[in-house]
Amino acid sequence: MIEAYQRVMNVESPPAPKTPKGFFTDTSLCIGCKACEVACKQWNQLPADGYRLSGDSYDNTGRFSATTWRHVEFVEQAKANSRRDGQRWLMMSDVCKHCANAACLEACPTGSLIRTEYGTVYVQQDICNGCGFCVPACPFGVIDRAPKHGTFEPGTAHKCTLCYDRLRDDMTPACAKACPTASIQFGDVEELQARARRRLGELRTRGESRAQLYGMPENEEAREVGPLHAFFLLLDKPAVYNLPEVPRLPRKSMAQRYAWSGAVAIGAAVLSALVFGRRG
Ligand code: SF4
Ligand code: SF4
Repeated sequence: MIEAYQRVMNVESPPAPKTPKGFFTDTSLCIGCKACEVACKQWNQLPADGYRLSGDSYDNTGRFSATTWRHVEFVEQAKANSRRDGQRWLMMSDVCKHCANAACLEACPTGSLIRTEYGTVYVQQDICNGCGFCVPACPFGVIDRAPKHGTFEPGTAHKCTLCYDRLRDDMTPACAKACPTASIQFGDVEELQARARRRLGELRTRGESRAQLYGMPENEEAREVGPLHAFFLLLDKPAVYNLPEVPRLPRKSMAQRYAWSGAVAIGAAVLSALVFGRRG
């Protein structure tokens, strides 16, 4: 039946599911060279961000955008009570997390955002109508709409594709290929998760007591958005890297927000009744 429909409608059958792919980013190995950012731009033919420095960081990229799908964050940290160690730099190459329960995908009304055969999240540009619902839905501030003037159709949504075109040719994503320290590791998600747990054990043994994993199935972050296909080993709390402690799915927090609005409305009604009742 499905095959007949596909023949009549002249559509291809969806590709068969493959072993889920993703990234394990070990931030303890990142040197902030930004080779990943450049490789991403080069492969995907995205324009440069310019070289304006903000004045409060050496990071000239600043944030994700429709044309910046990788962002290496620089966090300058003063070690408390330590004159000897002084400052330290924390660096993290951030990217779309390709969430197992992706808020952007749930918010998309046209079906432009899809789950690929590798378990990643992809924006189909020919279907995106530029409504922008996905942008506030993403709890990580990843996806963005193209500006009026630029490379892409104005308003359309863009983000990391996990190099879908390269995956189909059995190639490593451009950013992971370019990383000179193996901070960005690409592969089968389950294998990477096992590697991440081993690496955490190593770092803890060496005295990195604040080291922690972010986005693994056992982590609090996975409660609503599910395990992340791009997960991280951090050297400090997620907030230090601008990552949410518990990323929320809008549909889950809606009930709570409506309940609060309802409670406030009832409270206001009771208060006015009391005030006007007394005056009367
Ligand atoms: S990180 Fe944001 S853009 Fe990426 S899959 Fe998750 S919700 Fe979508
Ligand atoms: S996987 Fe590809 S699209 Fe995504 S950040 Fe890396 S190079 Fe860019």
